[in-house]
Amino acid sequence: SNRTFTMIKPDAMKNGHAGAILDKIIKAGFRIVALKQTKLTAETAGAFYAVHKERPFYGELVEFMSSGVIIAAILEKDNAVSDFRTLIGATDPAKADEGTIRKLYAASVGENAVHGSDSDDNAKIEGSFFFSGLEQY
Ligand code: ATP
Repeated sequence: SNRTFTMIKPDAMKNGHAGAILDKIIKAGFRIVALKQTKLTAETAGAFYAVHKERPFYGELVEFMSSGVIIAAILEKDNAVSDFRTLIGATDPAKADEGTIRKLYAASVGENAVHGSDSDDNAKIEGSFFFSGLEQY
């Protein structure tokens, strides 16, 4: 597929980086298919990250992701999933390449500014978690 799903996480929203991050995404050649500001609850964040339920950081992750507003978006580009993960950089910003979104805007592995789907299947599942078909253009 040529689509991926992203969130601008609560840390980047609070720190005022949403505009700069969207600018980098658009300049990297991604087209916005759907986009909105919203807020996760502990319940909806827990459901979104259910695959990580058994991981030691799950509670912290759910609390953080429901701590403030986020921007959710579906993005389109050739090779979207892989190219977007290259653009955002490693999960841990300390290990992220220069110029990546996490290197520029993230503070820690927990509060790491952005989400990017890790597969085409998950991009579809995650996109439909936030957007109906009628909201995707
Ligand atoms: P994402 O799915 O958000 O794009 P990722 O695929 O790079 O991130 P995963 O290993 O799938 O990383 O972890 C999902 C999210 O869980 C990370 O983005 C991060 O917010 C959080 N996380 C991962 N490892 C840790 C950790 N050791 N401590 C705290 N939070 C973590």
